[in-house]
Amino acid sequence: MIDTRAAVDVLVIGGGNAALCAAIAARRAGASVLVVEAAPKFYRGGNTRHTRNMRCAHDTATEHLTGPYTEEEFWTDLLAITKGNTDEQLSRYMIAESKPMLDWIGEQGVRFQPSLGGTLSLGRTNSFFLGGGRAMLNTLYLTAEKLGVDIMYESPVVALDIENGRFRSATIKTTQGDRDIYARAVVAAAGGFEANIDWLKEGWGEIAENFLIRGTPYNRGDVLKMLMGAGIETIGDPTQCHAVAIDARAPKFDGGIITRLDCVVFGIVVNREAARFYDEGEDVWPKRYAIWGRLVAQQPGQIAWIVFDANSLNMFMPSLYPPIAAQSVGELATTLGLPVEALKKTVDDFNAAVRPGTFDHTVLDDCRTEGLMPPKSHWARRIETPPFYAYPVRPGITFTYLCTRVDRDARMRMRGGDGAENMFAAGEIMAGNVLGAGYAAGIGMTIGSVFGKIAGEGAAHHARG
Ligand SMILES: Cc1cc2nc3c(=O)[nH]c(=O)nc-3n(C[C@H](O)[C@H](O)[C@H](O)COP(=O)(O)OP(=O)(O)OC[C@H]3O[C@@H](n4cnc5c(N)ncnc54)[C@H](O)[C@@H]3O)c2cc1C
Repeated sequence: MIDTRAAVDVLVIGGGNAALCAAIAARRAGASVLVVEAAPKFYRGGNTRHTRNMRCAHDTATEHLTGPYTEEEFWTDLLAITKGNTDEQLSRYMIAESKPMLDWIGEQGVRFQPSLGGTLSLGRTNSFFLGGGRAMLNTLYLTAEKLGVDIMYESPVVALDIENGRFRSATIKTTQGDRDIYARAVVAAAGGFEANIDWLKEGWGEIAENFLIRGTPYNRGDVLKMLMGAGIETIGDPTQCHAVAIDARAPKFDGGIITRLDCVVFGIVVNREAARFYDEGEDVWPKRYAIWGRLVAQQPGQIAWIVFDANSLNMFMPSLYPPIAAQSVGELATTLGLPVEALKKTVDDFNAAVRPGTFDHTVLDDCRTEGLMPPKSHWARRIETPPFYAYPVRPGITFTYLCTRVDRDARMRMRGGDGAENMFAAGEIMAGNVLGAGYAAGIGMTIGSVFGKIAGEGAAHHARG
C-alpha cells in the first residue's frame, strides 16, 4: 500500500557513500528524494570521509588498475577472509554487480587515480578515489544536489513509525524541534553502531571502554536499534567488526587513516607485561593488518607496544604521531612504563632466536626465529641498533557487523522471513550479510555502493510503482 500522505517518495537515512548512492539512484529512477544526515554539513558523510579506495571485480587492467581481478578471485578472497561466514548467494551477486560499479560511480562524477604506495599493495584490486573519500563524497553530494535531491543536515532520525514491515514515517530532531517525515519508501544507510560504546560493551564487556573508534561519532546504531524494535531480522555476531591496531594516542573518535600503524612486521609487539603474544610475521601485512585490533583487545588493559630499532625506522609509512625513542631497551621500557627486566629479556630472547636470512619485506622472506614461542615466521631481524623505538597501540574499531538482514534487492527481511514492504538497507547497516567475520581492504565501499544503488532503485520502484 502506498502512503498517500507521503511528502516524498524515498527517504534516505544517513549521509555517507551508501546513502548518496541510494539517493542518486532513486532520483535517477524518477523518485523525489530526501536525505537526512545526523551530522552537521562539515562532518557529513560518516566513515566514508576517511576512505581511500574500493574493491571491484574487473576482467582486464584499466587506466588505474594494474591487472585483472575476476569475480571468481574476488569470491575466493571473500570466502577465505570470512572463513565461509558469508551469505554466498548475496555476496556472489554483490561481486557481479561490483563490475559495472566503477563506471557507474564514474558517471556520478567521481574520479580515480593510481594506487597509493604504502603497505597494503592494492594496485591490482582496488580503485583509489582521486583526492580520497572526502573528495569522492563531495562529488556525490554535488551530483545529488544537481539532480534535485533534498538534503537536511543535523537531522538525526530519532523514531520510526513502522507497522508490520511497512514504513510510514521517521521523526527527525532538528534545531526547530522534532519533525515527522512521511515517505513511500525508506533506505536505511545510517552506518553501524561502532561509535556506541555501551552497545559495544554488550558484546565485549567492560574492555570496550578502552577501544578507540576510527571514524565518525555519529554512527551510534540508533536506526538499527529502532529497526530491530520494529521486527526486522538481524544477522551477525555483536562482537564481529573490522578492528585494526591504531596509535593509542589517537583521539577517541574520527582519528582516521593516519592513526593506523603498519609497522608490526618490522618489530615485535609486546603487552603490558612486556611479553610477546602473536607471530608478527605470520603472513603478508595486507592479509594480517585487520587481525591486530582484536589481538590487542585481548591483552591486559587493551594496550600493546610495537618495538623496533633504527634499522626499521624508515621502512614504513609513519603515523600521525612520532614513535617514542630511547638509547637502550631498558630506557625505552622506563619511558613506556613497562617492566624493565621483562622487556630486556623479551628482546634478548627474540634476538637469540633470530636465524640469518635475506630480509625482504615485500615477500615472505626466510628471516625467522627458531625455538621461540610465539615464533616470528618472517622478517625477523635482531632488535639491536639504537635508537630503539616504540608505538603504543590500542584496538581501533572501524565498523560493526551485526546488522539488518537483506535480500538481493537490498530489501530488509522481517523476523519470520517475509521481506519488508518498503524498507531497504545499504552500507554498514547491512554489511554483516557479506562480512560475517574478517575483512578485505576496500570492501566496505563496495557493499555501500552496490547495495546503495540497488536499494535506491528498489525504493524508487516501490514508491513510483
Ligand atoms: C579510517 C577509515 C578508513 C577506511 N578506509 C576504507 C577504504 O579505503 N575503503 C573501504 O572500502 N572502506 C574503508 N573504510 C570503511 C568505510 O568507511 C565504510 O565501510 C563505508 O564508508 C560505509 O559507508 P556507509 O554509507 O554505510 O556509512 P557511513 O559513511 O559511515 O555513513 C553513515 C551515515 O549515517 C549517518 N547517521 C548515523 N545515525 C544517523 C541517524 N540516526 N539519523 C540520520 N543519519 C544518521 C552518519 O552521520 C553518517 O553520515 C574505512 C573506515 C575508516 C573509519
